[in-house]
Parts: sequence; structure tokens; C-alpha cells
Amino acid sequence: MATDLTDFIAGLPKVELHVHHVGSATPYTVARLAERHAGTTAVPADPALLAEYFTFTDFAHFVEVYLSVVDLIRDAEDLATLTYDIGADLAAQSVRYAELTLTPYSSIVRGVPAEAYCEAVEDARLRAARDHGIQLRWCFDIPGEPTMTGADVTLEVALKQRPDGLVSFGLGGPESGIPRARYAGHFAAARDPDLMAHLREHDIALEVCPTSNACTRSVPSLAEHPLPQLVAAGVPVTVNSDDPPMFSTTLNREYQVAADLLDLDEHGVAELARQAVRYSFLDAAGKTAVLAEIDDYLQALPGEAGRPCARPTD
Ligand SMILES: [Zn+2]
Repeated sequence: MATDLTDFIAGLPKVELHVHHVGSATPYTVARLAERHAGTTAVPADPALLAEYFTFTDFAHFVEVYLSVVDLIRDAEDLATLTYDIGADLAAQSVRYAELTLTPYSSIVRGVPAEAYCEAVEDARLRAARDHGIQLRWCFDIPGEPTMTGADVTLEVALKQRPDGLVSFGLGGPESGIPRARYAGHFAAARDPDLMAHLREHDIALEVCPTSNACTRSVPSLAEHPLPQLVAAGVPVTVNSDDPPMFSTTLNREYQVAADLLDLDEHGVAELARQAVRYSFLDAAGKTAVLAEIDDYLQALPGEAGRPCARPTD
């Protein structure tokens, strides 16, 4: 990877549409939380030991480790620390807007009242915007569990608390204990070219997280990631980071991975960044602003001054 492109990606204004709240806790944040809860957690408080702790044997092991980090988020102060740190870390990668997947049910079953939960993340959201110029929004994640309690509680929190940052819902959570067979139809459909056509025709964008897919063995290796096939089929894709520190990645790194897989130059990478802006839930004015920033950033590339600009000029 050319250093020039690496620097370009680092400075490129970006939006992140698929990244998990607890899964974004950096070793620095996890170590601080582990220290705060020392004696009642298996998670090491030494950042050097965390790298080993975050080495996964398979997806079930990943979920086990993930849940031990979830267990460190026990009160409003933990939530505010985690959320604010994520905003700062994303802003440092030139991210202007991020839709963060939150699982309020995980905190509520640990005794955090719904109101305190929403206050903590909203407070962190406003502070991150003020201090780092990043706009955070929430996707409330319904845990995929045998019972529907988590789904019911998640919906109730959303409707009763109505946090300003909430823009969407997702379905996720632990997969162990949930019969996989009931999803067989979905997986069969995913292998069907008709689904690709459906995504293309209905303009449904996929939030692709390449390193996460490789680390959790959803794809055999990064090199075999189907991102090029998706693009070739005309499916709209965005590039995102999922649980970045746990997979030793960042959003910038995922853009590099995508650039390698798709053989992109600066213009191609910038188009990926634009794509995520377009498919975000950011309002029209916000989209226009970030898209203009991307265009300006591209225009500032050495040798770009004389090139025609894609935007109308006045
Ligand atoms: Zn995910």
C-alpha cells in the first residue's frame, strides 16, 4: 500500500455506519474499565495482556470475550466514558458522522435504569460533538435471543426515552443457544444471485466490515472477501469497522483493505467515503456538508488543481 494513499485515507472525511458500541472499546478504555472493576472481572487491566485476550479461536469464543467486555459496562459513568472515547477515536480517523450500534438491553439487565442509560450516551454524544466535531447517532440493537424479552425492552426504551441520537434499529447479539436451523432459509437466499439483483434494484446498501468477516471466520481470508463480487454485481456497499480494537483494525485500515480488494486509487476511495455518506441517516444538509468536504479534500490532492471538479462551480 502506497504511503500516499495511507495518508490520503487518514485525512479523508468519512462516515461510519456499522460499528458496535462496546466492540469499539480500545485497549486503553477497556484497561481503565477493568481497573475500575478490578477483582470482579477476568479482563486484564494491562493493555499489553489485552492483545492476547483478544485473540479468537472462532466466533463462539469471540462472543465469550465480547460479553466479558460488555460486563465491564456497569453504570452510567462507564457508559459515558466508553461512548465519549469512541467519539474521540473516530474523530481522530477523520470521521465526521457515525451510526453506533448500542445494545441498551445489556446495560438494563445489569441494573442501569433506561433513563440513566440514555442520559449517559446523550451526554457523551453532545460532549464528543463539542470537543471533537463528530456527530454520533444510535442504532438500537435488539439481542437475538431465545426469548423476546430483549426485543420488547429495547423497543420500550426507544419509545419511552426517545433519545435525540436514535435513528435506527438492528438485530444482533449472541448466536450461541439460538437454533441456527431457523435461519437456513436466509442463508440459502444469501447465496442466490436473485438476492444480489434485489439489493441492486431496490438500492439496498450493505454495511461491509471486511476484517470482522475474516476474524470471525465468516470468510476464509481477507484476500477471499467477496467485496469485489458485490461491487461487480452492482450492489451498493459501504465500508465499516464493526468491533475495531478486537479485530486489530480501524476504519482507516478497513478503507485500505477495501482499496486493496477493489484496486482503488484516491478517487475510488473517496467514492467509497461518499457512498457511506449517501446511505447514512444523516440529514440532507449534513450530507451535503460532508460530501463537499470530501470534494474539497480530493481537489487539494497534488496535481488535482487543474482537473475538472465533479461539483458544479460558480
Ligand atoms: Zn456487526
